[in-house]
Amino acid sequence: MRNKIVAGNWKMNTLVNEGVELAKSLNDYFVSNKPPAGIKLVIGVPFTHIDACVREIDYTVISVAAQNCSQFDRGAYTGEVSPEMIKSLGAQYVIIGHSERRQLFGETDEVISQKVALAHKNALFPILCCGETLKERQSGDHFEIVRQQLTDSLKLTDQFNIIRTVIAYEPVWAIGTGKTASPEQAQEMHMFIRKVLSELYSQPIADKISILYGGSVKPENASEIFAQDDIDGGLIGGASLKSEDFINIYKAI
Ligand code: PEP
Repeated sequence: MRNKIVAGNWKMNTLVNEGVELAKSLNDYFVSNKPPAGIKLVIGVPFTHIDACVREIDYTVISVAAQNCSQFDRGAYTGEVSPEMIKSLGAQYVIIGHSERRQLFGETDEVISQKVALAHKNALFPILCCGETLKERQSGDHFEIVRQQLTDSLKLTDQFNIIRTVIAYEPVWAIGTGKTASPEQAQEMHMFIRKVLSELYSQPIADKISILYGGSVKPENASEIFAQDDIDGGLIGGASLKSEDFINIYKAI
């Protein structure tokens, strides 16, 4: 019923030629091993790589995502990249509100809500990230933190657009640390996220939304994470930089 999605987040890694090689090797594999209907593959590449990667891959098999976008349409915003520009290059998704953007670049839920709305306006699918820090989990506030992030980040998103949105739950303490949430911890939060979505929208809508898990997913742990009822795939950082690992994570789904 819901799409399963395996999305890579290359972050600020690879030069264009290296990124193109990686995209090509994934494309070769997935063109000869077409994913079944309902399984989507996405690569989240640096802005500088979008054009070259889109040209190299079969968009019916792999989609390209940007890793961020501006909350502004166009104008005097030096250094910003608008959703319309991203769309014009042929990307289909955009990662929004990644914890690195929140922590290192001061992105707030207010700004994130504007980015999500502008991505929708430009027919991009946002991959909206949420997740608690270690301190928030240890103090037992993790559910409330995630509820607040979702409520505030989705405040400009209506019933029509929410089903064009992917949610990624990424506990900050599990990103790039090698520490993965246990499958039970992840499932518990994913079920909670679906409940929040059902309260914000409706149960039938919540049941249609793909919720991805992110945080040190590797070929070795992907199967048990993806086996959980409310986990519809993964947002993969480090392991998405090696085509073999990304392919093996896909196989786990
Ligand atoms: C990420 O950056 O979205 C991520 C999940 O990273 P990693 O898989 O390396 O923990």
